[in-house]
Amino acid sequence: MIIHKFGGTSVGSAARFAGVADIVCERHGGLEGTMEATSVVVVSAIEGVTDLLIAGARAAAEGEDTVYRGIKAELLGRHLEIVDVLLEDREERLSVGGLIEDRLHELGRLYRSIAVLGELTARGRDAVASFGEHLSVHILAALLRERGARARAISSTELIVTDDQFGAASPLMELTRCNLRQRIVPLLERGVLPVVTGYVGATEDGATTTLGRGGSDFAAAVIGVGLDADEIWIWSDVDGILTADPNIVPRARTLTELSYTEASELAYVGAEVLHPKTIRPLVRRGIPLRIVNSFNPNHPGTAIVEHPTAGRAVLPAIISGTGLSMIAVGSQDDSWTLDLAARALRELSQVGLEVLMFSQSLSEHNLNLVVRESDQDHCLKILSREFKDRHGEDTFRLGVQEKVATISVVALPGWNGGPNGIVSRAFSALGERQTRVIAVAQAGTERSVSFCIPEDQLTDAVVFLHRKLGLEDGCRGCS
Ligand code: ASP
Ligand code: MG
Repeated sequence: MIIHKFGGTSVGSAARFAGVADIVCERHGGLEGTMEATSVVVVSAIEGVTDLLIAGARAAAEGEDTVYRGIKAELLGRHLEIVDVLLEDREERLSVGGLIEDRLHELGRLYRSIAVLGELTARGRDAVASFGEHLSVHILAALLRERGARARAISSTELIVTDDQFGAASPLMELTRCNLRQRIVPLLERGVLPVVTGYVGATEDGATTTLGRGGSDFAAAVIGVGLDADEIWIWSDVDGILTADPNIVPRARTLTELSYTEASELAYVGAEVLHPKTIRPLVRRGIPLRIVNSFNPNHPGTAIVEHPTAGRAVLPAIISGTGLSMIAVGSQDDSWTLDLAARALRELSQVGLEVLMFSQSLSEHNLNLVVRESDQDHCLKILSREFKDRHGEDTFRLGVQEKVATISVVALPGWNGGPNGIVSRAFSALGERQTRVIAVAQAGTERSVSFCIPEDQLTDAVVFLHRKLGLEDGCRGCS
C-alpha cells in the first residue's frame, strides 16, 4: 500500500486538481472492477488557503469585521469556482458545493465567536486553520469518483489522535493506529479509496489540533506508519530535494537518495518540500519515503531510505526560504537578559507562531527572529504586548526588517568537498559577492550554516554558491 500526499500547490487550481486525479487513477487499485484499494490519498488545503484562514481569525480577534467577512467570501468564491470548473456531474457539483457552503457558514460562526471574545487562542486558531483541508478533501474525492474510483473523503480528526499542544500537536501513535485499523483497513478491503485531510488531528476529547504549518507531510507519515504502508510518496512541485531551488538554479540537481538522518537535517534547515517531523515516525519501521513532482510525475525524485546505496553521490545542498521578515527584539542598555529572550520565544510559541530561525547579537542586546511575512504583524503585536508596559519605550525596542530570505548550506556526512569545510566556503562565497549578512546561525557540527540576507540578494547568492561548491559540473549519481 502506498500513501500519496498532495500539497497545496498540487491542488492550487482546477487544472492542478485534474492533474492529481490523473496521477491517483494511474497508480492505485480500487478503480471499478478491482477488489482491493492499494492507496490512501492525503491532501493539503488549496495553496494559500491556510494563510487566509488564519489571517481571518486574527482579524476577527481584532474586531476587523469587514476583513474576516471578506476572507470568508473570498474562500467561498475560490472553492466554488474550482468545483464549477472541475466537476461535470451535476449531483456531485451540487453536493460538494453545498458541503463547502455549510463548512464556510460554520467558519463564519467561528470567526464571529472569536470576534465576540476579542481573543484568539491557539486552540481557536487550530479550529480555524483546519478548514482548508476539510474543503479540499471533498473536491478531490468527488473528482476521483467522477473518474471511476470509489473515493471517500475522510477527516483525520477521526484518525489522528494527538496531545493538546495546539499549533504543533504530536500524534499519540497507539490510539491513532487503532483508529486507522478500525476505519481505514475495512474501506481498503472493500475497494474504497480513502481521501484523508492532512495537517489535522484531534485530542482524545475531540478538540481539533494541527500538526504545525506544512504538517500534511507529517500526517501522511503518521497514517503510513499506522497502516504499515509499503511507501509514502510526497507529491510536491519540484523533482525531489535538490542541490538548490530549481526556480533559482534551473540546473540544480536532484539528490537521488538520502538516509533518514540526512533528509531530516535538510528538512530542519528549511527544505520546503518536507516537513521536519515527517521522518522520525518512519525510522522504526523502515518505511521508505519518496519526494516526487506532480508537475513531472515520471521523474524518480528523491528516495529517503534507511540504507542508501553504497557508492551513491553525496552532494551538499543549498536550502533557501523567502517570504520572511526579521524581527529584532532588544534593549538599548544592559537590561537585556537571556530571560527576555526566553520570554519572547515562549510568548510566540504559546500562540502557535513559528520562529524559523533565531540568533542573538550580544553587543547589540538583540534577539533576531525570522518569521513568515504573514506572521509578522501578529508577532509584533504579541511581543509589544509582552514587553512594552513593563519596560517602557526607552530601554526596549522592536525592529523589523521586511523582505529577508534565509539561505542554509548543508554538507551531508561523506561529502568529499575539498580541504575547506562548508562553513568557511559559504562565508567566503557570500563575502566575494558582497552579500549583506543580517544574521547567522551555525550548527555545532560545522556541517551546516544558515544566513539571513536581504531577499533581493538571494538569487545572486544562491547561484554563486551553487557554482562555487562545484555543483554545476556533471557529477556521478545525480540526475
Ligand atoms: N495547509 C497546511 C499549511 O498550509 C498544511 C500543509 O500544507 O501541509 O500549512
Ligand atoms: Mg509542504
